[in-house]
Amino acid sequence: MTADIRDVVVVGGGISGTAAAYELARSGVMVTLVEQGALASMASGWTLAGVRQSGRHLAELPLARAAVRRWQNLADELDSDVEYRQEGNLRLARTPEEVPVNAAVVAEQRSAGLELTFLSDPDSVRHVAPAVADTVLAASYCPTDGHANPIATVRAFAAAAERHGAVIRTETAVTGIDANGGRVHGVHTATGSIAADTIVVAAGIYTDRLCRLVGLDLPLRVAHAAAVQTIPLPPLIRQVLGVANGDFAGRQEVSGRMRMTGSAGPWQESEHGLDPEAVQPPGEAVMTTLARGIAVLPALASARIARVWGGLLDMTPDALPVIERTPEVEGLVVAAGFSGHGFCLGPVTGQILRDLVITGKSSLPIQPFRRDRFASMAGTAPTGLHG
Ligand SMILES: Cc1cc2nc3c(=O)[nH]c(=O)nc-3n(C[C@H](O)[C@H](O)[C@H](O)COP(=O)(O)OP(=O)(O)OC[C@H]3O[C@@H](n4cnc5c(N)ncnc54)[C@H](O)[C@@H]3O)c2cc1C
Repeated sequence: MTADIRDVVVVGGGISGTAAAYELARSGVMVTLVEQGALASMASGWTLAGVRQSGRHLAELPLARAAVRRWQNLADELDSDVEYRQEGNLRLARTPEEVPVNAAVVAEQRSAGLELTFLSDPDSVRHVAPAVADTVLAASYCPTDGHANPIATVRAFAAAAERHGAVIRTETAVTGIDANGGRVHGVHTATGSIAADTIVVAAGIYTDRLCRLVGLDLPLRVAHAAAVQTIPLPPLIRQVLGVANGDFAGRQEVSGRMRMTGSAGPWQESEHGLDPEAVQPPGEAVMTTLARGIAVLPALASARIARVWGGLLDMTPDALPVIERTPEVEGLVVAAGFSGHGFCLGPVTGQILRDLVITGKSSLPIQPFRRDRFASMAGTAPTGLHG
């Protein structure tokens, strides 16, 4: 199928939406991106921003590996420093019970072709990362994982999209989708309507609402995680740190600041919509995140804290995203439900969305990310964040 593309509207100015706008614009498509707030004002700004293949569900691994290949040249491609560093990921085992969990992840992912080693004792972990506590018993180590600056990356995608002719409208919420006769015709915003043959919805936690406007069900629930950031510190750790049960992740930014997140818990949006103060993390979540950080990196005990914030996650029942051109509504393309690990995928999400818009298919294996898998599914998503 090749769609007759004239105009595309992308809803959402996070990494998924801006990467899609960039890919579409450089393919010659007339694209307008509409973002209700500022660029990267939700998950793509709140994120830890680990660029991680290790520990991925096997369905996501081909996408994550393709994404890492893109990340390696992204700064040159976008002509902007996105502070990408490919210095590895360590998933730590802090208890005897976590050791076999990590060993199993290494075995599974190695058999899927990922370069990953098992550091089976405390000395070999500290040989790779000397600042890690001697109470850490073992770790998986993936040297090709890394991290980047999320706001710089989103801005770089948006700027590159604009250089290719895309129009970016921030502070503009999409309030309606114009659809009849089984296909989309455009979007409504507070400041007017925009006609389009194709609408890409990459609106994070609000994607289910936008889908409902055209009668489509997308099972998303929202989870909340605390984030803690220190002032700039001397070099401490090059790798992104995760833990076997996903209740802590941390990395040292290029600025020297340590950026850490804790486990995700439930979140209840106020009836008046998103209240920025309600998104701030409760004291207990900040304390546990810091305590887990200090337990694996003891030098953090004396680090000054600069900022804390809360982040919201778009969770699906199986913690895998939905990426599809919807079969029910012609011209509607959806990418959401990244469940706490969509930052790494951003560059390939953009690529896939472009291909779904232009040709209706992708060369990457996206069949596991169809929405119709939920028709026969029950269960709850895991809540771990793994950097
Ligand atoms: C604390 C935390 C830690 C994380 N750690 C990692 C990690 O280490 N590695 C990783 O890969 N991923 C991580 N993630 C997940 C990752 O950040 C997200 O999956 C990714 O940023 C999602 O990008 P997105 O563009 O799909 O959504 P978002 O960044 O949420 O963007 C959606 C945008 O749509 C806009 N929008 C919504 N509704 C409308 C509307 N009606 N009209 C106009 N605009 C609208 C929103 O304002 C928002 O800016 C983490 C997330 C959090 C919160």
